[in-house]
Amino acid sequence: MINFEIPRDLLIGLEPYAHIARAIMRPQAHDYDEQEHERPYPFIHAIWPLERARHQHLQTAAAQETTTEEPDLDVLFSILLAELLSWGDAGQFLARPGGRLGGTAVAAAGTPTQKATFLERFADSEAPVWGAMAITEPDAGSDNSAMRTTAVLDPQTNEWILNGQKIFITSGALSLVESDGICIVWATVDPQAGRQGIKSFVVAAHTPGVSVSPGMNKLGIRASDTVIINFDNARVPYDHLLGDLEVQTENTTKGFAGAMKTFDASRPAVAASAVGIARAALEITRETLAEAGVELDYNKPRHLLTAVERDLLEMEAQYKAAWLLTLKATAAIMHGHSNRLDASMCKVKAGTAVVFITQKAVELLGPFGYTRAALVEKLMRDAKINDLYEGTRQINLLIVARALLGYSRRELK
Ligand SMILES: Cc1cc2nc3c(=O)[nH]c(=O)nc-3n(C[C@H](O)[C@H](O)[C@H](O)COP(=O)(O)OP(=O)(O)OC[C@H]3O[C@@H](n4cnc5c(N)ncnc54)[C@H](O)[C@@H]3O)c2cc1C
Repeated sequence: MINFEIPRDLLIGLEPYAHIARAIMRPQAHDYDEQEHERPYPFIHAIWPLERARHQHLQTAAAQETTTEEPDLDVLFSILLAELLSWGDAGQFLARPGGRLGGTAVAAAGTPTQKATFLERFADSEAPVWGAMAITEPDAGSDNSAMRTTAVLDPQTNEWILNGQKIFITSGALSLVESDGICIVWATVDPQAGRQGIKSFVVAAHTPGVSVSPGMNKLGIRASDTVIINFDNARVPYDHLLGDLEVQTENTTKGFAGAMKTFDASRPAVAASAVGIARAALEITRETLAEAGVELDYNKPRHLLTAVERDLLEMEAQYKAAWLLTLKATAAIMHGHSNRLDASMCKVKAGTAVVFITQKAVELLGPFGYTRAALVEKLMRDAKINDLYEGTRQINLLIVARALLGYSRRELK
């Protein structure tokens, strides 16, 4: 039986976050959008104690290592949270302190000792701490096997020496310069070996040889920190290479696969964020149209609906489909099943849906929707990123097509 009811404990746990989304994020959404590169500290300071407590809970659960048949409700909670906070404001949501993509990467590819060591700071620090993950390079985005950042072992000191450049890194400055955070950096130990040479390394904040550019100017999610990171003979301890002895000592695709596992968890979170933005746009559209006397009558036959009512209905249908696919991908993780197909599918659907819904919102609200006074133009700008990062729409469609049609990466590219 499929049960869509959200457990009461989770709903109670979401309440303080809902307050932050309503009372802090939404009222400040415009200001932090206008003043790009300013950090949304009221939001950061309000949410950090909650996030730290959540990390403490996750660390304790990981340390106990109890295996249970019960679904992992922490996974569902984090998805509900991504939706809720993105409804508040997607830009500030992305500036949220905590392990974020970096923490997800450590959880996906690290050994139990590495998880305990590297994630501890997110549970213990009084001051907010950020995690980040750096894969993209000037010549390696969708095809990340083309990456050129190198990690060479110095046998004298047993350290990895990193050289190269990463671009478009979310929370790169917050994690490496403005807090005692970590950034998980993908690099190759053997450029001739393709995917087999790629491993992920934990780079701690303030590491000599790591420099961060000023923030990049963007179309949307402007409260989010996006930077270029340069590695110039940056030295990283040997055991900062994520994974077991096999990953550390051999040319194997296990390191790359471990890092890829990060996406199985992060793509549903991106989809949830898209759904949160879509919900905000839908609500504003419905309210504004209701004030103008337009309200959907769900009992009316479709051919009797006006064009505006049909648009609204289509927006709702797209929104629901995206959310249901996101929950399906989430349910698979909660039950410990593989979700690669569902993760890409929900990301494609939610990315497409949020772009459609927010554009329609601007359209239906007329010239007012196009002004900065209305939030929907910002939602439209914030929406598009969900179609781009964590694998573009085209790349996720390729993953879906390969899985459904039974083609290999080589056969369908
Ligand atoms: C705001 C922002 C934040 C980001 N945050 C991070 C981050 O934290 N960490 C990180 O590592 N990266 C991050 N990225 C990078 C992002 O993940 C990449 O931009 C994305 O993966 C695409 O890579 P690319 O830019 O090199 O585009 P390309 O790979 O050059 O693609 C360009 C276009 O070609 C299409 N394309 C490419 N290959 C194919 C194919 N085989 N078939 C069909 N179409 C194809 C793509 O879909 C796209 O439309 C961020 C990007 C942005 C804009």
